[in-house]
Amino acid sequence: MNLTRQILIAMSAAILLGSLTQQLLLNPELNATLRYILNDLLSQGLFLLGGKLFVASLKVLVVPLVFVSLVCGVCHLRDQSSLGWLSLKTIVLYLLTTGAAISLALLLASWWQPGTGVNMTVDSSYTPPPATPLIDVLVNIFPTNPIAAMAEGRMLQVIVFALLIGVAIGRSGEYGERIGKHFNDWNEVLMKLVTLLMHFAPYGVFCLLFTLFAEQGIGKVGDLAVYMATVVAALLLHGFVVYPLLLKLLGGLSPLMFLRKMRNAQLFAFSTASSTATVPVTLRTVEQRLGVKNRVAAFAVPLGATINMDGTAIMQGVATVFIAQAFQLDLSMTDYLLVVMTAMLASIGTAGVPGVGLVTLALVLQQVGLPLEGIALIIGVDRILDMLRTAVNITGDAMVSAVVARSEKALDQDIYNNPKAGEQV
Ligand code: ASP
Repeated sequence: MNLTRQILIAMSAAILLGSLTQQLLLNPELNATLRYILNDLLSQGLFLLGGKLFVASLKVLVVPLVFVSLVCGVCHLRDQSSLGWLSLKTIVLYLLTTGAAISLALLLASWWQPGTGVNMTVDSSYTPPPATPLIDVLVNIFPTNPIAAMAEGRMLQVIVFALLIGVAIGRSGEYGERIGKHFNDWNEVLMKLVTLLMHFAPYGVFCLLFTLFAEQGIGKVGDLAVYMATVVAALLLHGFVVYPLLLKLLGGLSPLMFLRKMRNAQLFAFSTASSTATVPVTLRTVEQRLGVKNRVAAFAVPLGATINMDGTAIMQGVATVFIAQAFQLDLSMTDYLLVVMTAMLASIGTAGVPGVGLVTLALVLQQVGLPLEGIALIIGVDRILDMLRTAVNITGDAMVSAVVARSEKALDQDIYNNPKAGEQV
């Protein structure tokens, strides 16, 4: 049985059994021994441990892989001056797709009116952390201490440092060549580790999702049903209509092949709700399954995990309209534009980890003068939406990588069009 099917079975079983467990645990008359087994031993014991180990095993690879892979990609560039153009193209595409995502969300939310008639009881308090000023966001891109940047997993700093080292290696003649070869070898070894770890995915996914669903089910839906439906519809439209269209129009590539090959990475993103933790799998997929050359993938994928969050922007667009409607406040055309701009900029510099979209939502709400307590309204169902939007986030990263690679002649079409290429063995 192939890996995708195994993960899907594990996922469905976890959602089913987890939700069942949650229902059982809600029953006050449940036998104490059974409660102990279900809650303490399984949900909060064995499966919690399994889930945490799974995420840790992915996260441990992120920094070494991004660093090694990017150095490798840059130092073997024949024409280093193309680097600027490549970066610019990637960043512009990331910004444009995010802009399109949030506009689509605003449009859909204004049409479906998810917040109209919502009973506005705030049932939990949410205090957003203080926002970082834009100037600090920009300064923070440049590392002062590369080891600290790696230790703290600051992705943009690691990217900048890797770019600098890669450029220097490429210009150091025979010395650089020697080091470059080592980086190549390390890259192969780390990629192999990703492949090996992917074998544990069905177990990891089961553990993560069981614990989640046993704890909170799908959340308190109630008045939020239309909100959820709007977010999900916008995510689906963006993932299954906008991306395929762009892929076809800008890259002339087959969308069906793309979607088929992205499945595993999407399932990883869905289960972990973190595009950063998924970077190793996205990178492997983009390079080995889609055929994007390392020099583009190693830059575009980790950068995308930090600055390109289309799914998150969609949630923020719908949430802003929802909160405005729930509080019966009007948004002007300028407000809408502000929302688009802020949501686009807010994602730069925030790592893709679970729930970060709500933190940057606070920034968006502040810009248009909406009450931050509004976040408390949607927090109950955010985790499940977080999982879905993370899958869209990483799909966007891969789509842009493929389009940029195609335009840079860095896409191996034989690999792209071969359904079996890079498949799990
Ligand atoms: N969890 C998302 C990600 O990692 C970010 C978010 O929307 O909260 O991509």
